[in-house]
Amino acid sequence: MATQEKTVENTQLKDIISHAKEYGFIFPSSEIYDGLQAVYDYGQMGVELKNNIKNLWWKCMTQLNQNVVGLDAAIFMHPLVWKASGHVDSFSDPMIDNKDSKKRYRADVLLEEKAAQYENEGDVEKANALLAEMGKLLEAEDLDGVRELIIREGIKCPISGTANWTEVRQFNLMFSTEVGSVADETNTIYLRPETAQGIFVNFLNVQKTGRMKVPFGIAQIGKAFRNEIVARQFIFRMREFEQMEMQFFVRPGTEMEWYNQWKETRKKWHEAIGIPAESLRYHDHEKLAHYANAAVDIEYKFPFGFKEVEGIHSRTDFDLTQHQELSRKKLQYFDNDLNEEGKPYGNYIPYVIETSAGADRLFLMTLCNAYTEEEITEGDNTKSRTFLKLHPSLAPVKAAILPLTKKDGLPEKAEKIFNDLKFDFNMIFEERDSIGKRYTRQDLIGTPFCIAVDHQTLEDDTVTVRDRDSREQVRMPISELKNYIEKAVSFKSIFEKLG
Ligand code: ATP
Repeated sequence: MATQEKTVENTQLKDIISHAKEYGFIFPSSEIYDGLQAVYDYGQMGVELKNNIKNLWWKCMTQLNQNVVGLDAAIFMHPLVWKASGHVDSFSDPMIDNKDSKKRYRADVLLEEKAAQYENEGDVEKANALLAEMGKLLEAEDLDGVRELIIREGIKCPISGTANWTEVRQFNLMFSTEVGSVADETNTIYLRPETAQGIFVNFLNVQKTGRMKVPFGIAQIGKAFRNEIVARQFIFRMREFEQMEMQFFVRPGTEMEWYNQWKETRKKWHEAIGIPAESLRYHDHEKLAHYANAAVDIEYKFPFGFKEVEGIHSRTDFDLTQHQELSRKKLQYFDNDLNEEGKPYGNYIPYVIETSAGADRLFLMTLCNAYTEEEITEGDNTKSRTFLKLHPSLAPVKAAILPLTKKDGLPEKAEKIFNDLKFDFNMIFEERDSIGKRYTRQDLIGTPFCIAVDHQTLEDDTVTVRDRDSREQVRMPISELKNYIEKAVSFKSIFEKLG
């Protein structure tokens, strides 16, 4: 018997989108009203997978690091927070419209796509030169220059096919709303465009009540909102999404050391959940955000190219200093360590290293990486199989309990096994259809183990356990099931890789 796997490179995103819809992972929002652009809902399988990703991230941050604690700040914040952070004045993307199709594009994305095209054609030098030129123009806020570059590169609107472009303008990405019943400017608040600011404004609350000593981190998972101009590529770019962010507060002057450490740790994390090293890469920022002195993206090779899944930023003391200024509250830390001349021993505003991952992008990465189509040849017969090769600890369902038939007491025996194990694992009990069809259904949602209860089970209390990836079956006593499943699905194997 030979098997041949189809990898993610030749898998179209559209196959993954339809798979996600068909098997209850992701639905378009408000679908019965024809959906809402760039907003999605997670279905019965999707919510389990997403929760597993979030739980794993949370535990890796807070459980593996004694000096990282959690927080859950509100989405609504005082409007001055966004003034202090710079989002009111400069959280914008350069946009350009095509006058013929009336479609709007991100000017920087058009140029990045052109650079990717050069790279695919093998002209890496030309690609890098274009990115560098774009970086310079954006840095200098030369929007006319960006437009000229788009025209010089011969970039056309894919809808109208023309280069009839408007001026490039800056477009603020924050959503605003009103609190209270009277709509005037003083009541305007924003839906947070990042979770980080909730951490900054609580920095001293956590430090003091938790008796934390620098270096220490605060981790948070929560919704963020951005009025993205270009909303496409499924859940890659949404207007409502979830971030998993950690701000790590360090002594001024030590930030590059910590930046490099977190950069490495985070890439290792992606590898530990089963993403091949060759599908990941670092990408240093061409244009640093207003708050950063170093920034790198971890990119994953999606079916539509290498794209950011997580950013690691050295944010200096920008945010805390700004909040200290606008709130007029001291946000300093008293460091009573070091000295005689080893320094600190006194007050300072800590520097911050941030790790910022999108839960939805990690979800899409996990799904793309897991989606597998293979050809199985048995004698003269070749058939194909689609399955999700998810890391067992992330799989939505850990095991399916399947009585071979609906009679002879097999369902009752199977139900007893299910009831014994349901306290430990998320499981499915299924008795409809042939065993083959039931195996297929579990493969499609990525269940690592199928436990079949047959007549021999009634005689000797053993079951067969089918492995999703190899399709091999082993017979084992019911009493061993718990340990067997636990070993594969526990986060421990991932923790150990992170050491
Ligand atoms: P991009 O350049 O793709 O717009 P970004 O650099 O603006 O992303 P950050 O501000 O660094 O993103 O946000 C941190 C993380 O949040 C990103 O790495 C990504 O995983 C996630 N993220 C940001 N914007 C979105 C979005 N619109 N939809 C889904 N996830 C997002």
